[in-house]
Amino acid sequence: MASYKDKGIKMTPQRMAIMEFLDGNPDHPSAEDIYMEVKEKYPMMSFATVYKTIEVLKSRGYLLELTIDPERRRYDPDTRHHHHLICVDCKKIVDIYGDFPVNVPEEAQESFELVGNHIEFYGICPECKKERRKNNGNIQM
Ligand SMILES: [Zn+2]
Ligand SMILES: [Zn+2]
Repeated sequence: MASYKDKGIKMTPQRMAIMEFLDGNPDHPSAEDIYMEVKEKYPMMSFATVYKTIEVLKSRGYLLELTIDPERRRYDPDTRHHHHLICVDCKKIVDIYGDFPVNVPEEAQESFELVGNHIEFYGICPECKKERRKNNGNIQM
């Protein structure tokens, strides 16, 4: 929990609880997920508090907002450069580290100076693969 200290963010017990839940969390939770989880401990927690805290962390660069899930925005406390793989069935998001050779067309590189990339992969996780086999005997996208 040391990593969120000294970041100049005004601390309240509620914010503390939200940050504790996010710190090192590999699940890429949505605002709703965070709210449901933290409310267990702090029944007085409002969704607005969760949302505001997310915005503060995001604006200071301590939280990444992911748009890979078409249904909900997801949040990632790991701000190191990495890519994501999402299960198209259960929307589980997995981190992928490593550099990939990405070929950007020459003309795009002429007008733009490239500063980074983020690759989104889509797949079916092992659990959902099993589930699909059970349901229809084969895998369909
Ligand atoms: Zn899945
Ligand atoms: Zn991630």
